[in-house]
Amino acid sequence: MKIGILGGGQLARMLALSGYPLGLEFIILDPSSDAGAVGLGEHLQGDYNDKALLTELAEKADVVTYEFENVPADVASFLSQHTQVYPCANALAVAQDRLVEKNFFHQLNIPTAPFANIASLEDLQQAMPTIGYPAILKSRRMGYDGKGQVVLKTENDLSNAWESVQGVPSIVEGFVNFQREVSILAARSPQGEIVYYPLSENQHSQGILRVSTCCSDDPLQQQAQDYVSYLLKKLDYIGLIALELFDVEGELLANEFAPRVHNSGHWTIEGAETSQFENHLRAILDLPLGSTATRGFTGMVNFIGDISDSKQLLAIENTHLHLYDKSPRKGRKVAHVSIRTDDAQQFTRTLQSVVDLANESDNS
Ligand code: AMP
Repeated sequence: MKIGILGGGQLARMLALSGYPLGLEFIILDPSSDAGAVGLGEHLQGDYNDKALLTELAEKADVVTYEFENVPADVASFLSQHTQVYPCANALAVAQDRLVEKNFFHQLNIPTAPFANIASLEDLQQAMPTIGYPAILKSRRMGYDGKGQVVLKTENDLSNAWESVQGVPSIVEGFVNFQREVSILAARSPQGEIVYYPLSENQHSQGILRVSTCCSDDPLQQQAQDYVSYLLKKLDYIGLIALELFDVEGELLANEFAPRVHNSGHWTIEGAETSQFENHLRAILDLPLGSTATRGFTGMVNFIGDISDSKQLLAIENTHLHLYDKSPRKGRKVAHVSIRTDDAQQFTRTLQSVVDLANESDNS
């Protein structure tokens, strides 16, 4: 079987690496000649809108998936006319627009921060008495890793904030004083079978994920599972999904979902019986889903901008280095290190050593 992937970055790379033992082959569409995944399959180099390349991808691949959610809707529907595309175009459409996504959460009775639709500075001025300060103005589309977001502290910030999002359709959201940020990853098969991973607890800085740790037996596991199952069923979703949530004194509020494999689940490669990447492939190929049981204490640390000394990292016991084959660049995720051990104290110590090294080489 041949899997087509739109995008050739680290997520496509890890998908391909997890598919090799299953005898799968890959064909990757990416504009860049040196994207991290292109050595792992046939590379179609060109624009995502290139109809000739999309046709070739659809003809050669048994199933097409993607590693980023900003796939243009017409590209997803063009591909769907020629081959199977998972997750479905509807999941993409919801995830691409923060307003549609927030309304979708509400339709499913999944709580969120208070929000309002903003199409003009006047809308923003009118919404703020209800939303309250502090708040965040977020562009509806094309936002990731905190891009297209401005914090509003007082009334005086409104016009500058509106200018800094360049007047694009946006939402304003109340600022959530959360105790933790968590995510839940789940995979759903065409038969409707769902498997859930234990919650990840996620630490961000400057809007970028830095550290994820697996929370086995978390008291909020069931609440998170309920919410993600509502999404999966309503969307008739096939593949892996990630739902990001804020924990506010034991109540979860949904922030956003990603219709793809997710950075907060990289620890599943060594830390779970079946990785998120393999379960995504199993789901889209209609194969039995694998166990999500964890192996001891586990988590992962991102390396942003640059990676210090790989030798130093490899010398730390119970760690696993994943280099993405990307040249160093400010703000770019170039590698992650996962940690897996049966000893809780050792886990905490090792995690700290890796975080220290990540901070040393950090260039974000
Ligand atoms: P997003 O692009 O929406 O995932 O936002 C990136 C990060 O900004 C989140 O992971 C949070 O750390 C923070 N953030 C986003 N929205 C809110 C909010 N309403 N309240 C507090 N922090 C937020």
